[in-house]
Amino acid sequence: MNRRNLIKKAGLGVIGLSMPGCGISRSLRQIEARATMRSARFSGTFLWPVNIFRDRIIRTTVGLRPYRPSGFVLRPERHDSKTIIHNYGHGGSGMSLSWGTGLLATEFALEHPSRNVAVIGCGVAGLTAARQLQKHGFKVTIYAKDVPPNTTSNKSLASWTPTSGLVDTDQRTESWDLQFRRAAHIAYRQLQLLVGPKYGVSWIDQWRFLDEYPEDATPHTNIRPPLLPSHLRAGQVVVGAEDHFYPCNYLVRRKTLRIEPSIYLEALVRDFLAFKGDLMIRTFDSIKDLMSLDQGLIINCTGLGSHHLFNDLELSPLKGQLIALIPQEEVNYATIGSLPGTTSEDFVHMLPRQDGIILGGTSEKGVWSMEPDQEATNRILTAHSRLFQGMQSGGFYR
Ligand SMILES: Cc1cc2nc3c(=O)[nH]c(=O)nc-3n(C[C@H](O)[C@H](O)[C@H](O)COP(=O)(O)OP(=O)(O)OC[C@H]3O[C@@H](n4cnc5c(N)ncnc54)[C@H](O)[C@@H]3O)c2cc1C
Repeated sequence: MNRRNLIKKAGLGVIGLSMPGCGISRSLRQIEARATMRSARFSGTFLWPVNIFRDRIIRTTVGLRPYRPSGFVLRPERHDSKTIIHNYGHGGSGMSLSWGTGLLATEFALEHPSRNVAVIGCGVAGLTAARQLQKHGFKVTIYAKDVPPNTTSNKSLASWTPTSGLVDTDQRTESWDLQFRRAAHIAYRQLQLLVGPKYGVSWIDQWRFLDEYPEDATPHTNIRPPLLPSHLRAGQVVVGAEDHFYPCNYLVRRKTLRIEPSIYLEALVRDFLAFKGDLMIRTFDSIKDLMSLDQGLIINCTGLGSHHLFNDLELSPLKGQLIALIPQEEVNYATIGSLPGTTSEDFVHMLPRQDGIILGGTSEKGVWSMEPDQEATNRILTAHSRLFQGMQSGGFYR
């Protein structure tokens, strides 16, 4: 009898979880993780289900992730008399990585004699690059077509996902990997220092429901060759079947950073202005347009805009649709994936934020449309409905 049938037959209802002081470091080997897992004991904290009803939808948003198979572009380039430092193409990882890529862009800028710089773009990449430049003594002017809340960054989920939709494994180079690792390391630290209501950054438990023991419960095994050192994804605990009553063999809890995009981006704009930054609404149609700027040093943070502006045809959209439901105070955990037994098409994720419970799980390559798609909405709602019903009943069938 498999676990789902066993649970159903035993007629077990909703049984919740808590983890009193139990912590398995990702730096332990798998065998140690299993041993600790067996000894973990859980009392009755409840993972309160999300109410999945259409009449609870408060908005649906679409954002286009700026995706490049060979990864983000972070390098200086000469155009006539100007130096342009590119910092774009962060895929589904821009909210996570931007403090790091912003500092790396600043290091290139420091090699230039001028301390007067133009940043093009006012999404998360532009704002964090601008702040890093200010911290290093630059006078910064941001020029952008759109500012928060009208940027892709505002349409982000947004949690600590530093490798999501970022790069194709076979296109990675050693030098890109080095840049990525440094950026991830810097950004992870910086985001931790911004935890609190002012920036809308917080820690949250994220749960997965698995039948197979998670390979990535041990360090360095999830992406080959590994992109991230294990300490950048700390706080993972695997809970075995004997210690929970959910319809799967393993529950995996990981600590992740959650960002509230509207609070975070507004706070970055305020900080930028408070440090005497200038912000100008302006659209650039060509590189020639950029040549008319006074500044000789330009940081290009135009995200997907670089497809047209710099004719970067490798850059393309990964369309992502999010559904926001009325917040439920009692939902204070995130989920990723579905219950085992559902199809891979049911890959979805849920993150509770102050501006709504955010449901997502779409990534359409090469789709430029900003229109919400009813089919995607139905899929996201159905998959989540199955997930939370399955969690409640304690029995979900293949
Ligand atoms: C559904 C969804 C979920 C996501 N979830 C996550 C997540 O959980 N974690 C994570 O890390 N990331 C996530 N992302 C990815 C993240 O949102 C992006 O990587 C990030 O927002 C890109 O930031 P950016 O500043 O480069 O681009 P944008 O936010 O698009 O900003 C670009 C700026 O450049 C300006 N611009 C562009 N072209 C021009 C031009 N020609 N002239 C003047 N200005 C111009 C724009 O007006 C804008 O101000 C998600 C994205 C989506 C869509």
